[in-house]
Amino acid sequence: MTDPSREPADAAARRAAKPLVAYAVEQLPPVDLALYASARAGAEPVDGVMVPPRDGRTFDVPAGHFFRITSVDGPQVGDLNLWNAHDLTERFFSGKTRQLHATHVGIGDRLWSNLPGLRPMATITADTLDWYGWDADGGGVHDVIGTRCDPYTNCLLKGEEYHHCCHSNLTRALAAGAGLSLAEAEPHVHDVMNVFMCTGFTLDTHQYFMKASPVRPGDYIEFFAEMDLIGGLSACPGGDCGSSHSDDSTPCYPLRVEVFRPAPGSLEGWQPARPNSYSRSHGV
Ligand SMILES: [Zn+2]
Repeated sequence: MTDPSREPADAAARRAAKPLVAYAVEQLPPVDLALYASARAGAEPVDGVMVPPRDGRTFDVPAGHFFRITSVDGPQVGDLNLWNAHDLTERFFSGKTRQLHATHVGIGDRLWSNLPGLRPMATITADTLDWYGWDADGGGVHDVIGTRCDPYTNCLLKGEEYHHCCHSNLTRALAAGAGLSLAEAEPHVHDVMNVFMCTGFTLDTHQYFMKASPVRPGDYIEFFAEMDLIGGLSACPGGDCGSSHSDDSTPCYPLRVEVFRPAPGSLEGWQPARPNSYSRSHGV
């Protein structure tokens, strides 16, 4: 990858350029975690679904509601997709979320939608793994850098078919949940938030790595829906992603999704996210 013979005389000076955080995230709309906390305190469960191991399910979350993903029975990671409930073409944009926040997300961070909407779809309001931080390998939890395990990459690398990758699980779940054919549903499946997954880039070669998730039964992450959402969640065939994925060799466990409705009047001043206000004239 590198060819030291090309190194110019001023290489050290060029490498010493100061890194700048690319986006002024302090200019983003503020997150009122105190308001969310008070709304959550009086919220009651109204819906939920258990996602079976190596499978996927969708769930509906009205704007202004919370949803919680909980580890049950054993350590398990989940691949999360989000769609605008009224327009499946507006969906979670992992790349921009990564640029606006970080490679891994936590409390107060938002999951943003794709262009041209570019608005917060959900805000992370609770996370029992927020103690983890960054480990000695450079790993963290809840990444927005992985894409999702999929049968095409598996076929490319192993030359065999496997039908319970997260991509397929999410495709089947969306098809069943939205009344679409598999061919109609598949293009709507997108890059995920890797819930509970512990990942990073190797410090020497910068390759994507995974390691056993620190999640344990009872751990959860919670989100506030900033718009009417359809969520899709796959219980990854990798289980805790400490050994392999895209096969049936790893122990896998279910993931529970619960939806909570705040008490009336407890979200005073809050409004569902509006689409981005850019004119879309593109200079013409
Ligand atoms: Zn997966």
